[in-house]
Amino acid sequence: MVKQTLVLYPSPPIGHLISMVELGKLILKYHPSLSITVLVTASPYSPGTTAPYIDRVSKTISSIHFHYLPTISLPLDPSKPRHHETILFDILRLNNPLVQQALETISQTSSIKALIIDAFCSAALEVAGNLNIPALYFFTSGISDLALFLYCPSLHETTTKSFKDIDAYLDIPGVPPLLASDMPQPLMDRSEEIYEIILGFTSDMGKSQGIIVNSFESLEPRALKALTEGLCVPHAPTPPIYCIGPLIADGDGSAGNKNHECLSWLDSQPNGTVVLLSFGSMGLFSQDQLKEMAIGLEKSEQRFLWVVRSPATDDKTKHFMAKPEPDLPSILPEGFLDRTKDRGLVVKSWAPQVEVLSKPAIGGFVTHCGWNSVLEAVRAGVPMVAWPLYAEQRINRVFLVEEMKVALPMVEAEDGFVNSSEVEKRVRELMETNEGKRVREQTRRMSEAAKAALSESGSSPRALSKLAELWKVYDTEDM
Ligand code: UDP
Repeated sequence: MVKQTLVLYPSPPIGHLISMVELGKLILKYHPSLSITVLVTASPYSPGTTAPYIDRVSKTISSIHFHYLPTISLPLDPSKPRHHETILFDILRLNNPLVQQALETISQTSSIKALIIDAFCSAALEVAGNLNIPALYFFTSGISDLALFLYCPSLHETTTKSFKDIDAYLDIPGVPPLLASDMPQPLMDRSEEIYEIILGFTSDMGKSQGIIVNSFESLEPRALKALTEGLCVPHAPTPPIYCIGPLIADGDGSAGNKNHECLSWLDSQPNGTVVLLSFGSMGLFSQDQLKEMAIGLEKSEQRFLWVVRSPATDDKTKHFMAKPEPDLPSILPEGFLDRTKDRGLVVKSWAPQVEVLSKPAIGGFVTHCGWNSVLEAVRAGVPMVAWPLYAEQRINRVFLVEEMKVALPMVEAEDGFVNSSEVEKRVRELMETNEGKRVREQTRRMSEAAKAALSESGSSPRALSKLAELWKVYDTEDM
């Protein structure tokens, strides 16, 4: 019998790769006879960060194989700074012949049932078409984000202005009113290349054979309803949507360090008292902002676990590049580490976030609103303070605060700076006030809902079995 394979094609950032691999693991749980091949593209920003994770999965799950695509390096011209997303899209477009080659090689020994692509990898639809392989999207953000992205081509038609020039709320089916200034940065200016590219993939997704979403129905019911009623893709049938989440890496995604010092430190702290501050794989702050955060955190008098990276460089072309380990005494206010040592721990660069969030000591999470971090917090029942930094995180803040009600907002000044009194105020609000209590209770309800969604008869396995019908259709033909 020919081996049946699904090929997964994530975009390079670690959060995207991990959730794609987790999708593979979930599929294998219900369909153990399949095999999975993951196409890996080297990250242009932080090469190598995914290697320990890939290594761990390869060693433990024999049905998941990783196929490394040869590295494409683009010459970067510092005099012409480009959006980091544009660079990523360029690489993923240039990957196409390599993806085609990989699929041809795989199909010599297996029957490829489907190609599952990250939304950023939309260019590969052409390859799937060439080879007659069914292609589906895996959308690594929430259902509300999906509603918004699928509605982008319609929004584009309603105005000739760029979002950056619109001082008003946008009316998008299934989501709360959003300020145009909250739209993802790469969509702000319609004269830019990146706007065109994103508009292109949102339109491709709307015409696809299906979209798998890493979320669950009861977390975002309004957006799901708008999608299934066809309101977000008004002029064509909406593709089937499969909400199979929350998918969460079982353990530290990158470093695999279950013995990290912060875990035993957390075990020695009282339940529900520690605020985690962690900002994803690419969240960087200026030196001034780091100092201001430290002052606010100290004034809040709360216990904390803070993951600190080296400050961001002013060079925008290198903004997302991996940084050296921070020298904490030189970047934090003088004496801060000493004054807070009895109630705070600062960890350099990276902490095993999933394990951290599952510790009973954790009572709150100041997050950059990356979707994986959000799901990890929701599953653990940890309420958040939403401090968005990049990508679609500003819209996530609106969804988390106004729709899901699992977070309080961190409010920045017009230039994006957050002062120490705001940090102090929000952290205290989360940990000490009735408003914080309401958010905590709602997050706990959502944590229960997440467990129910994943249970045997829950909405997520049901969505997965519907999805599997797509490739089962072809099963008998290969016997
Ligand atoms: N993460 C971690 N330790 C850190 C920072 C991040 O384990 O110190 C993990 C986090 O648990 C999440 C992923 O990295 O699974 C980041 O994904 P997310 O979608 O939150 O943000 P992104 O990095 O894509 O902006």
